[in-house]
Amino acid sequence: MGNMPSAVKHCLSYQQLLREHLWIADSVAGALDPSQESSQLSGLPEYVKIVEVGPRDGLQNEKVIVPTDIKIEFINQLSQTGLPVIEVTSFVSSRWVPQVAAGATEISVFGAASESFSKKNINCSIEESMEKFEEVVKSARHMNIPARGYVSCTLGCPYEGSITPQKVTEVAKRLYGMGCYEISLGDTTGVGTPGSMKRLLESVMKEIPSSALAVHCHDTYGQALANILTALQMGINVVDSAVSGLGGCPYAKGASGNVATEDLIYMLNGLGLNTGVNLYKVMEAGNFICKAVNKTTNSKVAQASFNA
Ligand SMILES: [Zn+2]
Repeated sequence: MGNMPSAVKHCLSYQQLLREHLWIADSVAGALDPSQESSQLSGLPEYVKIVEVGPRDGLQNEKVIVPTDIKIEFINQLSQTGLPVIEVTSFVSSRWVPQVAAGATEISVFGAASESFSKKNINCSIEESMEKFEEVVKSARHMNIPARGYVSCTLGCPYEGSITPQKVTEVAKRLYGMGCYEISLGDTTGVGTPGSMKRLLESVMKEIPSSALAVHCHDTYGQALANILTALQMGINVVDSAVSGLGGCPYAKGASGNVATEDLIYMLNGLGLNTGVNLYKVMEAGNFICKAVNKTTNSKVAQASFNA
């Protein structure tokens, strides 16, 4: 049995956000002008919860090892932006109980819709991973710690190529059934398009309510925002993203980072959707981490803003 990665997060409730971040209503770049309200697209949620995965999914896949003090400063800056959920780190160990007891407010388990990817990424078959996750999620529930389930390779696998929506649905249903409160559907390789995203969600939503689903899009083929918009129009209102588009995937050759949080917020502001997140503060945190790891931001919004 391979080691099971899990992640811990820093979470705020939306109510907490409203109390603590009065600037939510502030207008920021890309925000909707009241005169444009009639141009609103249909079928969109009013509020979108952004799950920031930069410190975990992002930094673990960067080539540079980030010193702990830099990482802590980065997370501290992110926690000032209004982001409701920040995944802070991951553990690759089956000795997870002491880690959960170490003060995590939420954990995640990482499954895959592809047998080959599961073997490479977490060193066990899908079935073996599910058996292990069941124990993890059950124990977390006993400790009143919510568990989130990830499904990787939902729109394609670096080893197996295309993945059927049925296979993803099967894995997602299993994670939901064992008690994961939210299932994040990951386009790990970033090969998806609005077409494949729609087919995927049509299948998964037959088994899992949209309120328990999230999308996690990488931008390898430049489709991430289009895929996210498709998901929003289909009733999804939780979106994973990483500041500066950090990350990639060591097992998915050529896969680029997650959709940049800055670009996601810019789009959502432009649609008049509430996120509770301050775009400027996110750009500052992105600037900080890019300087620290000596890389150029992948966020188009940050590039445009800093050039201007
Ligand atoms: Zn990812």
